[in-house]
Amino acid sequence: MNSTDCVKNNPRKRKCSVKVWAAALFLSLVLPVQGARVCAEEPNPSPDPVVIVIDPGHGGENLGGQYEEYTEKDMTIVVAKAMKEELEKYEGVTVYLTRESDEELSLSERCDYAKSVDADFLFCLHFNMSGEHTLFGAECWVSAFGEYYSRGYSFADIEIGMLKELGLYSRGIKTRLNDRGSDYYGIINHAVERGFPCVLIEHCHLDQENDQPFYDHDEKLKAFGRLDATAAAKYFRLRSETLGVDYSDYETVSVPVPSGVMRPDQSEPDVCMIDVTDQDMETGEVTVEVSAADYDSGMLYYTYSYDNGETFSELQRWPDEEADTFRFTMQVPPHIVPQIVVNAYNGYDLYTTSNMVSLPSMDYKTAEEIAAEQAQKEALESASADVADGRAEDGAASAENPEEQRRNAELKQINASETEEESLSFGYFLAVCGVCALLVLALVFSMILILRGRRRRRRRRRR
Ligand SMILES: [Zn+2]
Repeated sequence: MNSTDCVKNNPRKRKCSVKVWAAALFLSLVLPVQGARVCAEEPNPSPDPVVIVIDPGHGGENLGGQYEEYTEKDMTIVVAKAMKEELEKYEGVTVYLTRESDEELSLSERCDYAKSVDADFLFCLHFNMSGEHTLFGAECWVSAFGEYYSRGYSFADIEIGMLKELGLYSRGIKTRLNDRGSDYYGIINHAVERGFPCVLIEHCHLDQENDQPFYDHDEKLKAFGRLDATAAAKYFRLRSETLGVDYSDYETVSVPVPSGVMRPDQSEPDVCMIDVTDQDMETGEVTVEVSAADYDSGMLYYTYSYDNGETFSELQRWPDEEADTFRFTMQVPPHIVPQIVVNAYNGYDLYTTSNMVSLPSMDYKTAEEIAAEQAQKEALESASADVADGRAEDGAASAENPEEQRRNAELKQINASETEEESLSFGYFLAVCGVCALLVLALVFSMILILRGRRRRRRRRRR
């Protein structure tokens, strides 16, 4: 039976309907996209099996996303078959695939098929890609209208919760409208036109290394399929003797049917301010406090820049979806004047740029500079070692041999004493020369005196 009838035929559901409508009105005014947990779904009272149709996205010429060795149409068929196989282990459910092989189908053909088997729900399986290969995480798209919104959101809440448990980052549960004001995604639009709810599951991004560990093997794709099946089993409160599980008491949440259109968030985050709380001049680490909020679709990512927005870091997860303020530490290179700026992204990938904080330059040494200095030092040491080796080869004593060290010391001592003796004998020679010169001078002087005396005597005799 159709899940819409389930609500109408359920007396307990009617009891809480006043509260549900009041909450729906509140939500449509205050929380355009996010749902609220109001009351649990009742188990399916119908003896008819639940009809689930699984749509493996793309096929044939329509490859879907393609990145490196990954092609979306091949991935979705693996997930879909695993989902069907797992769901068929539950009682009270009939499962169909819109395509079993690599064939091309239009979106309306897929929905016509689902309608022909009287689908209670259409699950569309996809993998995402982004233009810059920067986005990562899982998201679910649901109809923006009435019961299709609330049922879609109710299932997506379980699905996203399980994908988060698996380790993926949640990009949320969202609606999107086209220019005509109807659901943007054709498959959701066609499903709504034919009267059954539809959720488009973007399991993760097939072009992003953060998500790659979740799809890099067929077994992991099959795990996605089993996860999708379990989420559907929980939503429809199924039980399986084969698996030994019973979700008939599972606390499925119901999202109130909104009175108006659940419009997507089209505006950037309302506020984004930053403050630098710490700057370590020795290491270049700068701690930044970010305060940002988006009251429509919440906060999703942030990026940071130290050059006033010339370049930005990779997208970072918003640390806590409940918190508007948090701190993070970034590494700023030395010898520049850091100008810190943060971009804060909301659930629709729209961002607001923060105020800029300018900081004094830091002159610490980077790891590269320290490595370069170390390499230079090692090169110098190696060069001096080569010179020493050269001396050793020329016959110099090895410093490691004590006997040779002793001989060297003796040689040095002998050389020193020889030099001393040489300088002593030279002094002696000079002294002897001096004495000889004095003696010669004295001899010459006395000869002159004697000769003068004789001349005087001769003159006296002549007189
Ligand atoms: Zn796709």
